[in-house]
Amino acid sequence: MAQALEEARAAAARGEVPVGAVVVSPTGEIIAAAGNETRARHDPTAHAEMLALRAACAAVGSERLINHTLYVTLEPCAMCAGAIAAARVGRLFYGAADPKSGGVAQGARVFSHPQCHHAPEVFDGIAASDAEDLLTDFFKAKRGG
Ligand SMILES: [Zn+2]
Repeated sequence: MAQALEEARAAAARGEVPVGAVVVSPTGEIIAAAGNETRARHDPTAHAEMLALRAACAAVGSERLINHTLYVTLEPCAMCAGAIAAARVGRLFYGAADPKSGGVAQGARVFSHPQCHHAPEVFDGIAASDAEDLLTDFFKAKRGG
């Protein structure tokens, strides 16, 4: 999660919403790390999780990340939760809850939906206050000009 927070800080420095994600292999190796890049890429799907999942799949040469672990600083949205399910990610650790766009513990609750073919083990609230502080500071700075 420390590495995911670093990615989130780097995203904030680029003017992106500070969210970071890291994929760890079954042997405990970090195989992908990314921060939000929706603005830089002009791509509404370029959430940290999507970029990290894409990079991890490319690294392992598979569309599945069985027994891999994804760390994200913020509760994934419904789009990312769908991608996490499709990739068969084994475990999901996330930091702050996202009442506005979260799709795991609230909103669409993708993993509890009957249509969900695979649900990772979910662990929430990991370093949540650090992730929240990053987001709060980012949006406060934005509002302040
Ligand atoms: Zn997302």
